[in-house]
Amino acid sequence: MKRLVILGGGESGVGAAMLGKLKKYNVFLSDCGKIKDNYKEVLINNEIEWEDGGHTESEILTADLVVKSPGIPDHVSIVQKLYYATIPVVSEIEFAALHTTANIIGITGSNGKTTTTMMVYHILKQAGLDVAIGGNIGESFAEQVLKKTANYVLELSSFQLDGIKKFRPNIAVITNITPDHLDRYDYKFEDYIASKFRIIKNQTSDDYLLYDCDDEVITTYINSHQIQSTLVPFSLSKIGTYGTYLEQNNIIIEFNNRDTIMPISNLALEGKHNVKNAMAAATVAHLMKIRKATIRESLEGFQGAEHRLEQVLTINKVKYVNDSKATNVNATYYALESMKVPTVWIVGGVDKGNDYSSLFPFVNEKVKAIICLGKDNDALIDTFGNMVDVIIETQLMSEAVKIAYKITAAGEAVLLSPACASFDLFESYEDRGKQFKSAVRKL
Ligand code: ADP
Repeated sequence: MKRLVILGGGESGVGAAMLGKLKKYNVFLSDCGKIKDNYKEVLINNEIEWEDGGHTESEILTADLVVKSPGIPDHVSIVQKLYYATIPVVSEIEFAALHTTANIIGITGSNGKTTTTMMVYHILKQAGLDVAIGGNIGESFAEQVLKKTANYVLELSSFQLDGIKKFRPNIAVITNITPDHLDRYDYKFEDYIASKFRIIKNQTSDDYLLYDCDDEVITTYINSHQIQSTLVPFSLSKIGTYGTYLEQNNIIIEFNNRDTIMPISNLALEGKHNVKNAMAAATVAHLMKIRKATIRESLEGFQGAEHRLEQVLTINKVKYVNDSKATNVNATYYALESMKVPTVWIVGGVDKGNDYSSLFPFVNEKVKAIICLGKDNDALIDTFGNMVDVIIETQLMSEAVKIAYKITAAGEAVLLSPACASFDLFESYEDRGKQFKSAVRKL
């Protein structure tokens, strides 16, 4: 019996442990922190050995194969020891992929992964396909493989891709690449880019790579590397005769034939970034031979994910928008871009070394006041202090929302789009978004 050791007892680790058990491995799971009670229960019910609060080396260094949670960086001591002992270490995505021959659609990028993944899933489901969604969203890929499905739509983070060896999606999507998570990549942007491109590492010309060809980081990489995948670009402007693009505000997919999918005015989600996400999703569906009418109807009916430009309420003709998931500047760029009326912008949190300059035109044009919501707001005040008449600091969401309420007039909007991580004042971006919504509902 081969010994499988899992490092990390979260969603992916527990999924991998269950799959390992089913595949007759001798499984041991180890977490240096505390494993949540619901996951412990799953391990106990499945008679899987585990430990938390530390790593017992003698149990771990005897592994034939190790599945490492994407949250554990390479430099930690136990991982270094595994590498030294030449024990193979893979991600849960790699491990799950070893145990399925189903069709895989993998979606990565700095922003738009969740939205695009959910859109693809929604279209395929509407088309009546046997399909599951997973990876960095909802249930782990390993857990989905346990249930067996013909098609998997996977959201993939760069950390998950770092641990793949043979994983080969039939269709890969890279939505965009902007600096993010650089602390995990020694502050080398090129390493982060390479990590995203690992999604096509094992693809052949039978497989597709869909990518935003308006994104220079992506096109520069493609032009300077030998890519085996069949390339399918998408763009907001006309791009020749192969790929997906906009013409007179219609989404066109052109391979051997030219197909008009739908006008962008009929998309349920607002914002240019969502036009791109919809183009990517429509192209995946088209490659999977889904009817045009189904693609169109699905995108017309698709309700976005929570905390992504989510319309909360309209109070006294003021619209409140929750974009708490905007944890970097690029995401906030698209949020501000999509605002059509004077906006009170709630911003701030843990700044990952942000360069805010791309936001200046929008701030000058649309932002009437800024509410800084973070422990340390100096960078924001330095950057935007001279750009708006009103800039206010607070460390309470309820107060931020009350101030916004006081200073807006009918026809205006309040946007929470922090451009920063949430960990200074909140548990997570979800917690931040929920607190925003609850404060708005109390107005
Ligand atoms: P991810 O899963 O990659 O974090 P999400 O779909 O959760 O992406 O969106 C994260 C944030 O980025 C949200 O604020 C959303 O409005 C914004 N966003 C969504 N799609 C894109 C895109 N294609 N380009 C830039 N920003 C986007």
